[in-house]
Amino acid sequence: MWFFYMLPIAWLFQNTVHEVSHLFFALRRHNRTPLGLWPYPHRYNGRFYFARCAWDGGPIEGKRDIVWVAPLVGAALVGVLAALAVLAQPQSVANGALAFTVCAMIDAIWWFRGYLWGSRSSDGKRWRYGDERG
Ligand SMILES: [Zn+2]
Repeated sequence: MWFFYMLPIAWLFQNTVHEVSHLFFALRRHNRTPLGLWPYPHRYNGRFYFARCAWDGGPIEGKRDIVWVAPLVGAALVGVLAALAVLAQPQSVANGALAFTVCAMIDAIWWFRGYLWGSRSSDGKRWRYGDERG
């Protein structure tokens, strides 16, 4: 049961890790100033987002930029933390950790879906071709 109770919290946590990982590398690699973090489902400019972040200075261009692959780093981090939590026990913690791991895997699978078939605004495509938003 814990697994299902933890899923919505795990999903919010995973999306926060995702967006913070973008902001971290935008700040560290490109010296961008973070302008906002919205780690909850909302609409912006007519589009639905599970979570979103923003920085100054417009699009980040360049092929294979770490800002766009950063969510995979975040997902891996969540997976490692969850594995440690499973080792730590008790069962409720292990089930919660499993929920985090499932959410991190969904996010990673979604990233690869974007790489292969996604729109230009997906993280996977941005990593593949660079951010070409004007
Ligand atoms: Zn992203």
